Amino acid sequence: MTLAPPADGTVPGILHVHTNRSDGLSSPDEIAVAAARVGLKFMVFADHGNATRRPDPPQYRSGVLCFDGVEISTSAGHYVAIDMPAAPYPLAGEARDVVEDVRRLGGFGIAAHPDSPKLELKWREWTAPFDAIELLNPDTAWRLWVEQASAPATRWAARRKLALAALDYAYRSAEVMASLIQPTGVLYNWEALTRRRRVVTLGGVDAHAKLAPRSADPGDSRFALPFPGYVASLRVMSVHVRPERPLTGTDAAADAPLIMRAIRAGHLYTAVDAVATPASFEFSATNDRATVYEGDEIGAGAPVTLRVRSNAPPGFTTDVWKGVAVLSGGHHEQEFTVGTTGEPAVYWVEIRATGQPNPLSWVRSNPIYVRGAEPLARVPQRPPATTSVPMFDGKTATNWRTEHDPTSLVAMEVTPIVGGADLRFRYGLAGGAPGGQVATLVYDTPRGVASSDRVTVSIRAEHPMRVSVQLRGGAGEAEGERWERSIYVDPTQQDRTVYFDDLMPVGHTHTFRPDLADIRGVLFVVDARNTRPGDSGRIWIRKAALEK
Ligand SMILES: [Zn+2]
Ligand SMILES: [Zn+2]
Repeated sequence: MTLAPPADGTVPGILHVHTNRSDGLSSPDEIAVAAARVGLKFMVFADHGNATRRPDPPQYRSGVLCFDGVEISTSAGHYVAIDMPAAPYPLAGEARDVVEDVRRLGGFGIAAHPDSPKLELKWREWTAPFDAIELLNPDTAWRLWVEQASAPATRWAARRKLALAALDYAYRSAEVMASLIQPTGVLYNWEALTRRRRVVTLGGVDAHAKLAPRSADPGDSRFALPFPGYVASLRVMSVHVRPERPLTGTDAAADAPLIMRAIRAGHLYTAVDAVATPASFEFSATNDRATVYEGDEIGAGAPVTLRVRSNAPPGFTTDVWKGVAVLSGGHHEQEFTVGTTGEPAVYWVEIRATGQPNPLSWVRSNPIYVRGAEPLARVPQRPPATTSVPMFDGKTATNWRTEHDPTSLVAMEVTPIVGGADLRFRYGLAGGAPGGQVATLVYDTPRGVASSDRVTVSIRAEHPMRVSVQLRGGAGEAEGERWERSIYVDPTQQDRTVYFDDLMPVGHTHTFRPDLADIRGVLFVVDARNTRPGDSGRIWIRKAALEK
């Protein structure tokens, strides 16, 4: 359905596009040509990587402002990081660590495809402080597109054949399809987060210009079909961002911060253009003190008037949501207001293309947050340790030694400082492809660590890096099994505490948590997960203790 041009001051673009630098089909320039053809004004590339590649600066290609992001694989799904410099070390490992690293680097992180049917891809770490989440996602977008191709509109007829052919490869369950149009677990998860903090919601097109069957990773091109091409995939949906002022359209350095600030603020809505295009949409909230727009917060305490304006065709239905309940549904008018109390709540809007067999989501807003004065999130603090058994006393390295793979190097010395000594650890990982490179500082604990519940180190490193603190079993079934927690270390000496009940298994272990009585070593591991092969450096430990 083609609608009158929008006049809502937004700029349409898409996030999460793959190029031939990873598993996409085309170059950034070629994709920009395709994006220009469908009227997009900006685009964010998110090729698979570990964030160590220096991103291209924002630039206009064929009139489309192109940003360079990265899609990072974590232990709990994919995380798209944008608006960030190159990382000083490979970002990988636990999702909570990657989220922390992206934040430290000043980036904006998007939890990708949280309802993907494929577990390795799907975002599963709901407690990490990610910035945004894809609630209209690539896989569902494809199904939506396929669905739309069977609608009577003749402009889709040509694509229907392609779509139906692809169905043989790509068919997935109707439940996932339905996730677009009614609350699913993912929506509930997101809503629960918004009560505590802002979480930007957006659609990620995840365009590869190829479609993988249900069991294949999108990155596995053996199973990918050259379907349906970037132009078609870029037509599926767009993110409409509302910058503070109009873009110049030519000056990337001036325009890029406007787009990124608006994305970070959640000043955007997602439109499924395959349903009707172009969308025009505004959502605001007014109380006796202020008027704010989607993505913003407004103070609680006074009645709020929500205002919705769109160019929705008459058959479409607009619902105003309060959390996961419809506050005011069934609107067919293009402009209306809804009055509500001033209590803390999260409001958002969805417009659906009703009047067809499968009502489809067309526009989904970001929330307006009505907030009280109460602090939203409190980080629970652990009680301080009352017992402390030194592992390193500032004099001698009793019980300490090193381990390494056959080609990497490692050395340990006690180096005097004023009033004591540091334990200095030097490592040089072997070059080549990332594999088994490892350099480890070991503290032997022949009698286990059952009388403690944490290890605390005062530590610094020559350059920013991650060190994996591990416990290693040495008795019975647990022999050689390890549990770990990664810590960030940089040239500023800082105390880092690792709680044993916060450790995660390294590979397969017989028990999810270690039996502390069976632990025979506390390990400080530098390996190829977060350190580039061929890199070397030094780490200094001032103090280390087993505590409880
Ligand atoms: Zn992904
Ligand atoms: Zn992707």
